[in-house]
Amino acid sequence: MGEAYEEKNTGNDKEEDMYPITIFNPKKVDKKEQKRLEKIFRKYDLEWDNIEFSGTVSEKNLKKIYAICDEEGLRLKIRNSLGHRRTDYRRRFFSENKGDIGGKYICAYCGKWLKKDKVVVDHLYPVKNASQSVEYQKKLRRHGIRNINDNKNLVASCDKCNRKKGTKGGLWILRGKIGRHRAVWFIRYFIRFLIILFGAYSLWYLYRVIAVF
Ligand SMILES: [Zn+2]
Repeated sequence: MGEAYEEKNTGNDKEEDMYPITIFNPKKVDKKEQKRLEKIFRKYDLEWDNIEFSGTVSEKNLKKIYAICDEEGLRLKIRNSLGHRRTDYRRRFFSENKGDIGGKYICAYCGKWLKKDKVVVDHLYPVKNASQSVEYQKKLRRHGIRNINDNKNLVASCDKCNRKKGTKGGLWILRGKIGRHRAVWFIRYFIRFLIILFGAYSLWYLYRVIAVF
């Protein structure tokens, strides 16, 4: 089943040039204003469905539509496989990642051990950023991510790190990419263990030297 899912979302280049979008108006507007917006968006084959405008547009038109949304204070979302949060990504994460010792998970950002029910499944590259920017989506494709909900883009996180990270990128992404490998944390634990061992040995040695006098 997993394979069929991957296959469906690889897409082809032509599909990638077209963007399914929705536009949401956070303001309440009167009929006249609504008609005006409908007229603008009809030019781009975007239909009003009583909640939002939706349709599929080319990249060229998307740039124009972005400018309109900025001006009108509307919210645009790209609803393709890179911009849309699937409802089952948490279940998929756990079916592909069985956890470590005792079924526990490690927060990819701080190394904290977590029980399964305490794990926040985090999108390494945030969905929000990918749903709002074509450039961001292109960056993700360059990184080999074709679906924002792919296992590649999901990491275990504690609640605290997840909230601190929010939609930030940069160093958080790097931390997550390194920290998702449990070996990194085991090496850190081992180094910490060696430091403690060395400290204990030093104290013991010092004690013996002092005890002689
Ligand atoms: Zn954490």
